[in-house]
Amino acid sequence: MSSTPLLSFSEAKNLILQTAQSINYQQTESIKLFDAVNRIAAKPIISPMNIPSFDNSAMDGYAIREADLQNSHLLPIADSVFAGQKQINNWPKNSCLRIMTGAVVPKDAYAVIMQENVQKIDQAIRFDPEKIKAGQNIRYIGESVCAGSEVFPAGEKLTIAKLTTLATLGLSEITVYKPIKVAIFSTGDELTPIGEKLPSVNSIYDSNRFTVQLMLKALGCEIIDFGIIKDDLDLISNTLKQASKEADIVVTSGGVSVGDADYTKMALAQIGEIDFWKIAMKPGKPFAFGKINNALFCGLPGNPVSTFVTCYQLVRPLILALYKQNSHTNTFILKTVSNLKKSVGRLDFQRGYVHANENGELVVSSTGEQGSHITSSFNQANCFIVLEAERGNITQGELVTVEMFDSFLL
Ligand code: AMP
Ligand code: MG
Repeated sequence: MSSTPLLSFSEAKNLILQTAQSINYQQTESIKLFDAVNRIAAKPIISPMNIPSFDNSAMDGYAIREADLQNSHLLPIADSVFAGQKQINNWPKNSCLRIMTGAVVPKDAYAVIMQENVQKIDQAIRFDPEKIKAGQNIRYIGESVCAGSEVFPAGEKLTIAKLTTLATLGLSEITVYKPIKVAIFSTGDELTPIGEKLPSVNSIYDSNRFTVQLMLKALGCEIIDFGIIKDDLDLISNTLKQASKEADIVVTSGGVSVGDADYTKMALAQIGEIDFWKIAMKPGKPFAFGKINNALFCGLPGNPVSTFVTCYQLVRPLILALYKQNSHTNTFILKTVSNLKKSVGRLDFQRGYVHANENGELVVSSTGEQGSHITSSFNQANCFIVLEAERGNITQGELVTVEMFDSFLL
């Protein structure tokens, strides 16, 4: 039995996050709002104005004063106000104003009555005062955003919805983090790039580099792709050195375990400050983390499911933390409707599927075989079933922790 103590998953993740927090990634650029979808705000965004910027009507209708609420008689229409047109400066007492959606509501208006709720008789209206509430159908200044308030903190991911809010403020440029540069390569004599013919019966496709690349791109990183590197100490060592000069982070797959061709480990021992961890997680026990020159280094295990899970569970939080985002996970407890195979000792990230049962209650099912080479276990999955290290086999009906996938995985 190995004497190296296993690090718990949370210890490993915390060490990674501490490293990220000690680095002040400050490379920013100003870009057009139009190009900022899914980029990360590098500064708090302070509103230059109120939204709405003036009191305005939410409906096509009639503006009335409080004093006229008591009058059940006909209220004459004094004038009309349109969006973007003249304001009314002299609104006679004991009258109402015809007002359109988006038009300025005078300060002394009590409410806007929607036109469907009045009876119009010639140039006057009748309405039921009982149905009128103060401020009804008036959109007040600053109700949505106050001038000088923080709209978004640094680290906010700029989705289309959030950019829409910024567009209402008239902002056309925004300061975002420059993409973090990540150098990636796969190691292994058995690997062939996708799209090429497999040269021999013992060759396999390099799916890991593809997966890691997709995940990092979705996280807004710039990829420097070093391809496939043969299991050769000098080649791996030289590639690591070159990658560390060009990138902020180097991510590799394979070669960090205990096999005779696990040269990544040997190369790193010569050129970097790297910790080799055995993490009490499944899949993904072997993992290397540290620094080569000024670049951070993450060495992922070679098995495709292990690469996927460690990239998602450990590299992704590292990148989010460098961008000052938190890697909040959407986690809850559900009943499993599958039996789950589990040995005591490691935190399992099994792939599952949250769905409604026949009573409309949310439950989770396993996606089947969970081996670290079975990537199809992700195909139907929409969540991880996170099984605590100390638990053993789980019987259907037991409660389990479910962590929904970040939508970029789906
Ligand atoms: P290793 O961590 O290098 O010992 O690899 C563990 C397992 O993952 C072996 O079966 C490898 O063939 C496989 N593997 C390693 N790298 C990749 C890759 N880039 N894509 C797909 N499978 C891989
Ligand atoms: Mg290998």
